[in-house]
Amino acid sequence: MCCFFCLNANINAMKSLLALSLFLLLSNLISAQSNTKYALVIHGGAGVMSEKSMTPEMQKEYLFVLNRALHVGDSVLSNDGSCMDAVVSTIMVMEDSPLFNAGKGAVFTHEGTVELDASVMNGKTLEAGAVAGITDVKNPIMLAKTVMEKSEHVFLVGKGASQFAVEQGFKLVPNSYFYTDKRFQQLQELLKKEREAGINDKHGTVGCVALDKSGNIAAGTSTGGMTNKKYGRIGDAPVIGAGTYANNATGGFSCTGHGEYYIRLGFSRDISAMMEYRQLGIQKACQAEIEKLTKLGGTGGVIGLDKAGNISMEFNTSGMFRGFVKSNGEKYTAIFK
Ligand code: ASP
Repeated sequence: MCCFFCLNANINAMKSLLALSLFLLLSNLISAQSNTKYALVIHGGAGVMSEKSMTPEMQKEYLFVLNRALHVGDSVLSNDGSCMDAVVSTIMVMEDSPLFNAGKGAVFTHEGTVELDASVMNGKTLEAGAVAGITDVKNPIMLAKTVMEKSEHVFLVGKGASQFAVEQGFKLVPNSYFYTDKRFQQLQELLKKEREAGINDKHGTVGCVALDKSGNIAAGTSTGGMTNKKYGRIGDAPVIGAGTYANNATGGFSCTGHGEYYIRLGFSRDISAMMEYRQLGIQKACQAEIEKLTKLGGTGGVIGLDKAGNISMEFNTSGMFRGFVKSNGEKYTAIFK
């Protein structure tokens, strides 16, 4: 009697277990299917640029590197990689290219050296990492990520940041690694203009924002700052909330332009706040922030994406190197307005 009941109870328990496993398997399958969406958007700096001032060959070269950067980010995301890994590896492509003002090819300071700034932010945890005044690390964006992951700090600067880099196994490069003729000539031109009229107006930076298949958002920005910068000047790119911000609840943003204005506006955090408190869509929020920038007299642009994969690329200059890629196969690159 007792055995009969035991057997019955066991069969019932096994049936429930089977039903539960089946349910879990199905819900996993369904969620795996619905979570295949990802997107990635990049910029390579905003500024004064016209079709006339750029030969078709130059345009091709820029578009080639933008496409390569998009391709690298796309492969990370399509292979289930994280948005942070996508952001860092995409930005590294542009840091390694002499065309952009980040890593190799960065602009010169007044003293004729190169000082690099970079930052990253994780929209899920709101963790962030930033470095500034870097003279000897090939890929500052990687160092910013390492600060976020391996230190208890958010922002490291100059020699201390290099010391941290060495402790973390980074190989240092001489400052001459970053040298390019083009940037050196830019400095000479600006020094000449400055002697004549006190002008300093060159910018150009790289940035990336990604949404991965898990629905998480990350953003990153890397720059050499502004040509002819002095006195240890640091711009918005490494300042969390100014040049870079990410929050899964709203979106991720990376900026380029005249950094002082971006810091004063708390630019990227302000966009996120408009989305959070006023329920503005990403496009409207980015446009509204660019209007604030214009009113203040600043120039530049911003890229962003939200949790639904909506992309925004706004700027008040005549051009911005930019592009995006989406899981549905959509791909776009452009330079001029
Ligand atoms: N925002 C950068 C800075 O001010 C420069 C740029 O984006 O062109 O350092």
